[in-house]
Amino acid sequence: MFIYDSVQKKRLLFEPIKEGHISIYVCGPTVYDDAHLGHARSAIAFDLLRRVFSALGYHVTFVKNFTDIDDKIIAKMKQSGESLEAITTFYIQRYKEEMHALHVNDADIEPKATECVGEIVSFIEALMALNVGYVGDDGIYFDTSKDAHYLSLCGRVNEEDASMARIEQKESKRDQKDFALWKFSKELDEPSYPAPFGRGRPGWHIECSAMIEKYIATHEGAYQIDIHAGGADLLFPHHENEAAQTRCKGHRQELSKYWMHNGFVTINGEKMSKSLGNSFFLKDALKHYDGEVLRFYLLSTHYRANFNFSEEDLLMSKKRLDKLYRLKKRVFETTPTPADKNFQALMLEALSDDLNISKALAVLDDMISSANEHFDTEPKDKIHKALIFGNLLWIEAVLGIGLHTPLSYFQMGVCEEEKKRIETLIEKRTEAKKAKDFATADALRHELESMQIQLMDTANGTQWEKTI
Ligand SMILES: [Zn+2]
Repeated sequence: MFIYDSVQKKRLLFEPIKEGHISIYVCGPTVYDDAHLGHARSAIAFDLLRRVFSALGYHVTFVKNFTDIDDKIIAKMKQSGESLEAITTFYIQRYKEEMHALHVNDADIEPKATECVGEIVSFIEALMALNVGYVGDDGIYFDTSKDAHYLSLCGRVNEEDASMARIEQKESKRDQKDFALWKFSKELDEPSYPAPFGRGRPGWHIECSAMIEKYIATHEGAYQIDIHAGGADLLFPHHENEAAQTRCKGHRQELSKYWMHNGFVTINGEKMSKSLGNSFFLKDALKHYDGEVLRFYLLSTHYRANFNFSEEDLLMSKKRLDKLYRLKKRVFETTPTPADKNFQALMLEALSDDLNISKALAVLDDMISSANEHFDTEPKDKIHKALIFGNLLWIEAVLGIGLHTPLSYFQMGVCEEEKKRIETLIEKRTEAKKAKDFATADALRHELESMQIQLMDTANGTQWEKTI
């Protein structure tokens, strides 16, 4: 496996810390609002990474956290009058349901910040004992001047760099690059935790370092985990700060051996933002499109490239997915045999090249075309059908697509009421045909066609599909 390391800025041969095992940590969402397409893209990208490593035979431990205490959550509490727990439970549940719709598997470990406060406090105490943390007016800060390698991750040295503008400016910091490890409670009714250095709550960056140490870090060797991943916007300051905390804690270990970052999502060429009013919430996208169609679309661009979302491209992408389901329809009635080894090898070769999805989907397209050609000449070749069905099941596991039955896929987006109406019209048409009233039968077919319903008369009766 080759992966592009976004810190070294080059493609590297992946070598795990421990033979046969891989630890991956992905920064998860802050649960105060609905997930948007950017969250979906990141989740799908690293879900694919995890699936590919599993297909290559590695034992993968995959961790994704939930930031369930934060200034934005507290602001939401004040605005809504609801408890921290009510808000975070709601958005965690919603996030998970939406991820399931996208066929993103749950992480092996899904820690919440509020469940790791003890470890976070100990981590901060250790940094303070080493004189890396200091007490400010409103919290405990990390002293970036104590870390000789600070900014080595993002490779930025110029303090006038635009990204530096994202750092919160405060008088209580010795240096503006310093960041909060712990925030003292300002008001009595804010959620807070006791700590030897004063009641308060954790800063954002510290939780990931503490969780990694608690759940997956190796405590020997140069690195704690194999891969740390997240959106490109997290590299600085979030990942830089995580790395600095772990480096300075005194274990002589770096946080992660490899770093992977996915590109941004833009909507019709513009960056998604709340102020522009073009934040595309996943819940809205899922009202219009099936989760798998959305997954396939988001998956089809390389994870590091920026992704421009457009409805037109999504519909084009669905047409490509339709081909997979047309083939599935041809082989669906057989009992699958294990996938073709050559096909597996070609797919994995493509995906092992830093998740080269274009190449992998080209291999998939070739497999679909040649299978169709074969069945056009030999429509009853059961052995080949079983093999092709095996290939499609293997694709389900590795790419997370093709999980619907062909019938449910091609009837997607039709509500129960409309289904009943379609079936009534089909029954009428069947009766008209029986009575040799072909004019009525044709009229009914046209009526269904105007509803974008295509009919197929088979030995088992008339079947229908939605054409868009
Ligand atoms: Zn993080």
